[in-house]
Amino acid sequence: MIKRLGSFTLTVVLLSALVVNANAQNKTENLILITLDGARLQEIFGGLDVEVLKGLTEEGTIEETPLYKKYWADTAEKRREKLMPFFWGVLMKQHGSIAGNRRLGSTVELTNKHWFSYPGYSEILTGQAHDEIIKSNDKIRNPNTTVLEFLKRKLRLDVRQVAAFASWDVIDWVVEHEVGAITSNAGFEAYQHPDAAIDELSKLQFETATPWDNVRHDIYTFRFAMAHLKTYQPRVLYIALGETDDWAHNGRYDRVLQVLERTDAYLRQLWEFLQSQEQYKNRTTILITVDHGRGSTAPQWKTHGKKIAEAKYTWLAVVSPDSQRRGEWVNTETIFANQIAATLCRFLKIDYSENNANAGKPIAQLFKDN
Ligand SMILES: [Zn+2]
Repeated sequence: MIKRLGSFTLTVVLLSALVVNANAQNKTENLILITLDGARLQEIFGGLDVEVLKGLTEEGTIEETPLYKKYWADTAEKRREKLMPFFWGVLMKQHGSIAGNRRLGSTVELTNKHWFSYPGYSEILTGQAHDEIIKSNDKIRNPNTTVLEFLKRKLRLDVRQVAAFASWDVIDWVVEHEVGAITSNAGFEAYQHPDAAIDELSKLQFETATPWDNVRHDIYTFRFAMAHLKTYQPRVLYIALGETDDWAHNGRYDRVLQVLERTDAYLRQLWEFLQSQEQYKNRTTILITVDHGRGSTAPQWKTHGKKIAEAKYTWLAVVSPDSQRRGEWVNTETIFANQIAATLCRFLKIDYSENNANAGKPIAQLFKDN
């Protein structure tokens, strides 16, 4: 018995040596980047924010409000898991990690000084702030080649294998420097697909107006992205969800929370699909982040921009077969949004500095054990 136990232990040791060895190789073959426009640290890390709720409750106590009844719990961990059960209960526990919880000594910051959307997306997608050139949300063509375009060239992919789907129409102008380089579908824009049900959804988007002329409901963005993923198997996919920002600008905290809860269900659907596919299972790195933060106090939660000091703080989650980190980052060096492009490339063993020598460097902590 003792002898058998001994050989069993030896087998286990050998097996784990093999696992360590396998980890030295990069498993990533596909990348998925997801952004949740202006989604605050407070909700991501702490769920329902009672300070915001207090500011919005004009009559009665906050305890009587539907939001409190639905989302309140006595710790940040429980509240955020009520809001995003899949993200916190499964994804961050078993498969990935998240940086940016400043209470734990982890900070993610923008390097651009504008702290609104176009400069944020451009920093993420090009690896550098260009504050003098990119200083509005106007529809101007990105003056720099993006990481999406660079990867298409390096991996010799066709136009369908690098795709971006966005709720906000301006993202169409951010994701590519060269028009038509990648598949881009953004804002209220028809999406043609062989599946009749997707075609129907494409028509419906125009009949389900939002309060904003240039931001469609995230469900369309997500469903088109999923249809594209299933039919064309892209190697690089970018999904840019937008409603979290716009409902906040409108002061609709209830909708912000609903959208985060819905986004959590999208992440579950996406994850389950990836796990069911040979091409994607254990070969896909997912990076989830945000273009800017927003205010932390009761009136300022709605807004962002350079007058709101807290808006420079963001967060970043990574799920990858090539990163062993799990859960929240604790007491780590500050990381910056300009490192994201190079980090994505690093997962594919591609050196992003070839595209932009001034871009932020890959986030080293992701490739260490903890
Ligand atoms: Zn905004």
